[in-house]
Amino acid sequence: MTRIASHRGGTLEFGDSTPHGFAATAAMALEEVEFDLHPTADGAIIVHHDATLDRTTDRSGAIAAQSEAEVRGATINYGAGGHPLTLSELCDLYRPATVNFRCEIKPDAEGRPYSHFVPRVVAALGAFGMLERTTFSSFLVEVLDELAANTTRPRLWLVSPPVLRQLGATATIEVARAHGIPEIGVHVDTADAGLMTAVQTAGLDFGCWGAHSAAQIGKALALGVKAFTTDRPSLAIALRARWLKENAA
Ligand code: FE
Repeated sequence: MTRIASHRGGTLEFGDSTPHGFAATAAMALEEVEFDLHPTADGAIIVHHDATLDRTTDRSGAIAAQSEAEVRGATINYGAGGHPLTLSELCDLYRPATVNFRCEIKPDAEGRPYSHFVPRVVAALGAFGMLERTTFSSFLVEVLDELAANTTRPRLWLVSPPVLRQLGATATIEVARAHGIPEIGVHVDTADAGLMTAVQTAGLDFGCWGAHSAAQIGKALALGVKAFTTDRPSLAIALRARWLKENAA
């Protein structure tokens, strides 16, 4: 069965990376919650998509340049008054739940990997009892290499449309294999049966991200990808249930 990942806690249903979106996702009949991590200046790990607070909160500036208290002082737009969660708080929400983690390691505001961040994330997930329920993702091959050096947990490479266009399917698969990356995720609009077959024939798993509309979710289900991320988890759950019923016969 194709796995559903609630993207940033279900952005189009609950706002971007909001506490109530993550709380709602924890109780849903889906398999994974996708989230992104950034470090603060004083050593905390924050769950937030952007490297800065500017776009989605009432505050501004890079998370990495501020203290945990400063970041927690931000109110998230459409977030019911909530502030960005720490990784510790997110783990508290999901330890009692059955939904597992899809953890994306983000670069800094300039697009560069944070130094010595991956080992800290791995250690924190271990300490908070969620490492064995985590799959890691990143757009950056350098970060995926760093993950491999720090954990045996599954990793997947998020391949952006321009990278896929520039490399093509064959070279994309070669890069993944050369770096021991077992799974590729592409934007759902760039996915097709030919690409999926090529990836799977190479022994890699194939998934999608960005499946937010009914048509995009339907496409991911019809292809039978391993997993997809969606900003509309409730819609995805309903469409998957309908798809399974219609295709049961
Ligand atoms: Fe992400």
